[in-house]
Amino acid sequence: MRGVLKELVPDIVLAERLFGELAMRTRRGKGIVRESYGAGEQAAHDIVRAAAEALSLEVHADAAQNLYMTLPGKDRRAPSVIIGSHLDSVDQGGNYDGAAGVIAGLACLAGLRKSRWQPVCDVTVMAIRGEESVWFDVSYIGSMAAFGALAPEELNVTRSDSGRSLADHMAQVGCNVEAVRRGEAYLRPERVRAYLEVHIEQAPLLIDQGIPLGLVTGIRGDLRYRDARCYGVYGHSGALSRQYRRDAVAATTALIQCLNDEWLRLEQEGHDLVFTVGELTTDPAHHGPSKVAGETKFVLDIRSTDEDVMYAMRDAACSLADDIGRDMGVRFDLGSHTYSEPAVLDFAMRKKMALLASRLDIPAIEMASGAGHDAAVFAQFGVPSGMIFIRNDKGSHNPEEAMAMADFEHAAQLLTAYLVTELEG
Ligand SMILES: [Zn+2]
Repeated sequence: MRGVLKELVPDIVLAERLFGELAMRTRRGKGIVRESYGAGEQAAHDIVRAAAEALSLEVHADAAQNLYMTLPGKDRRAPSVIIGSHLDSVDQGGNYDGAAGVIAGLACLAGLRKSRWQPVCDVTVMAIRGEESVWFDVSYIGSMAAFGALAPEELNVTRSDSGRSLADHMAQVGCNVEAVRRGEAYLRPERVRAYLEVHIEQAPLLIDQGIPLGLVTGIRGDLRYRDARCYGVYGHSGALSRQYRRDAVAATTALIQCLNDEWLRLEQEGHDLVFTVGELTTDPAHHGPSKVAGETKFVLDIRSTDEDVMYAMRDAACSLADDIGRDMGVRFDLGSHTYSEPAVLDFAMRKKMALLASRLDIPAIEMASGAGHDAAVFAQFGVPSGMIFIRNDKGSHNPEEAMAMADFEHAAQLLTAYLVTELEG
């Protein structure tokens, strides 16, 4: 088998050319700008569409203008394998976040085309729209629309820079907005045999460990209090002695410290968890350098691959807020929370990829994904889903993100090996 795997090689020259074209057409100053349903994302779609047509792949778009580039299999009616990721970026992002997954898929299909190898079922590279919720405060626009599951009211959400609605921006790049609104599905879960996504890692774990690839176990869910408050009483910072204070800042920082201790405790028990207070403010209309603060506003962001752990942390936040509020004479109102469930990726696919990686002498470790990915949507619709992370220096969502082409090649090789061993016959 090793001989077969070595013969079928992804087209890395094509991949390098596509990364170069993407950078050239979508760089704005220092960083990359491929805004969801805007000019930058459209330019990226035009580039990969042209590459797919040059490879004689079948090319289709759905109502939300997700792009499907298909290598036909022997049995056209059999459920297909989808290799996907997104082509949009954040404002002033890097060239690899999202695009690496689409280009890995195309490099893989180009290699298979060249060797005239035909899979048992169709293999489709999907370039997904609107994954970065920085432009619209909506998660997974493209992949949800592909399954006919984008909530109609989300079409009214406005884009952060233009102030125009999602529906308006979608129409501008040729979407059939009414079909999306009606929830017409292009993908049906039972017609998808498996979903695979290659993506750069967005944290330094692989760099730190000196390992080129990660095999993702699950994608963390997110339980977030966006508008938590602590109400105390404003007072004179010189005049009020300790027993008369109802200090909102002191109480809020005490709550944060206790929750950090709880995070450490859960982590030491072996649970997957991250906890962040990304925003913490006093009210500029009332605060001052010589005042005890009477109010704070903050965000609690709790993420884990295990929803029981997220709920345990939520319960800790509620009971600690009560206890600290009582002790310090303040009142916490955490408000309502938003929730996205964790996605569990397919165990059998991961084990198979681990086996293939070792046969190819590519070091790979299992790891959780902290950030959200379209794979979470496919997994939630019941499609067996897997993700390969590529080692990447300097994080993502910034122009400095750095992926070595040698590591990308390893990911594309593993993807090719997976398809060849899974879909031969
Ligand atoms: Zn991404």
